[in-house]
Amino acid sequence: LDFLGEAAGYPRWVRVNALRTTLEAQLEGVFKDFTRVYTVKDVTASGSSGGKLLYVDEHIPNLLALSPGFEITKTEAYTSGAIILQDKASCFPAYLLDPRSEDGDVIDSCAAPGNKTTHLAAIVRSHGTEKEECVQKVYAFEKDRRRARTLEKMVGLADAKDMTRISFGQDFLKVDPDTPLFAHVGALLLDPSCSGSGIVGRDSMPTIHLPHVPGTFKKPTLDNSSRKRKREESGAAAEEGEGEGKNQQQPVLVDDDGQEVLVSSEEELRMRLEALSSFQLTLILHAFRFPAARKLTYSTCSVHAEENEQVVLKALRSGVARERGWRILRREHQVRGMREWPVRGSVEASNGDAEVADSCIRSYKGDGRGVMGFFVAGFVRDAQAGDENG
Ligand code: SAM
Repeated sequence: LDFLGEAAGYPRWVRVNALRTTLEAQLEGVFKDFTRVYTVKDVTASGSSGGKLLYVDEHIPNLLALSPGFEITKTEAYTSGAIILQDKASCFPAYLLDPRSEDGDVIDSCAAPGNKTTHLAAIVRSHGTEKEECVQKVYAFEKDRRRARTLEKMVGLADAKDMTRISFGQDFLKVDPDTPLFAHVGALLLDPSCSGSGIVGRDSMPTIHLPHVPGTFKKPTLDNSSRKRKREESGAAAEEGEGEGKNQQQPVLVDDDGQEVLVSSEEELRMRLEALSSFQLTLILHAFRFPAARKLTYSTCSVHAEENEQVVLKALRSGVARERGWRILRREHQVRGMREWPVRGSVEASNGDAEVADSCIRSYKGDGRGVMGFFVAGFVRDAQAGDENG
């Protein structure tokens, strides 16, 4: 396998889909010939030499890292939806949100291709509600109809159909938070379009993605292995039921709308980041308005402070946050794996606010932890604040 370029040194992250199977069953099944190692570095040290090594992640439940040479997409476990290819960092938001039965319904505001939607569904079910009894719903919004179809396929493959309601082509910003259908939405996951600058295989002067903003288009810049990863993780393989060889011939959809925008100067980059962060902030403020909402997560696969800590600070200082009692989810109140994850937000990017920085969770590609560049923060509010002001 051609595991070249920046993607070398990264494992294949595999989430065991608890809606279909268990970690134990997969360790005894598709991974029974693998040798278990105890750090992620040991997994990647084998490169693409064909060694079958496996690491059970210490932070995210049901997550495995495999040595990169193993052709996972040819296994029955993958084609049946028992396992899902999903970078470790991409598992942070649903895990941090940790929707429980007392949280009521859940919204995934920007859902396609559905990695986090299906992860949310698995977590809701893992908190003890049997399939037949589960009354909690996951409402998944996706404004791009084509991508919503991929989402639908992924939700079906993951066996999350009964608890997920997909709104095809629906702009989340146009959803009225006071709609009676959403009266019991207590938790929201916001994973909006972003610059994608944390994605492995992207240039360091990033080619950023911004739907609906005209730019100069160029061919995809990802190397072959990154391209293949991206397709697999975006559900394209599931969508088309293709084998690996065929995928490599296809043009690659690396962003929301399948287009890449070439940024030619630092100034243009700043302008685009400004437009993105303004959209991202609007999304959070909209989510703050759902009357029963008590917790939400905001995430990007961007490394830029403008899309991350800076958006969080603006959201915290907004009128709607103050009126409705929204505050940051502090590290000590986070789920164990996120509390223990060592890479936190930047104090400088948080304008010197060390508490906000420590509450934010980051990851950086190329730091040896084997994950993509990512950012996530949680927001919470008390039931009382909501009742008084909601
Ligand atoms: N959460 C997804 C996952 O883990 O598979 C990835 C989401 S991707 C970063 C952002 C998605 O949000 C894109 O599919 C895009 O079309 C969609 N989107 C962007 N703005 C939206 C909006 N206002 N309402 C609904 N969907 C939106």
